[in-house]
Amino acid sequence: MGIFDHYRRGDAARDRVAIEIDVAAGVLEECLVCRQIADKQRDDRLAVAELDVHQRFDHADPSVAVFNGDRDDLLRRLRTVRKRFDYHCLCHSTG
Ligand SMILES: [Zn+2]
Repeated sequence: MGIFDHYRRGDAARDRVAIEIDVAAGVLEECLVCRQIADKQRDDRLAVAELDVHQRFDHADPSVAVFNGDRDDLLRRLRTVRKRFDYHCLCHSTG
C-alpha cells in the first residue's frame, strides 16, 4: 500500500464526516425508503452544519479527529461533498 492509497482513504473518511454532518443538519436528505442521499439545495441549512462543525472542534469531538484540527477543510467539504448527490433519490427518480 502506497502513501497515495493512505491519503485517499483518509480523504474518504473526511468526506464521510462531512456527509454525516450535512445529513444531520438537513443540508442533505437521506431517503427513508431507498436510503440514498439527495441534495435538495437546502443552502439555508448550511449555517446549521457549520455551527455543528465548530462545536465538534471546540469540544474535540472524536468524530472530527480525522481532520487533525483542520476545521477549514471540513467546512469546505460540507459544500464539496454535495456535488456527488442528485436532487432526487433513487426511488423518486425511477418512479
Ligand atoms: Zn428514495
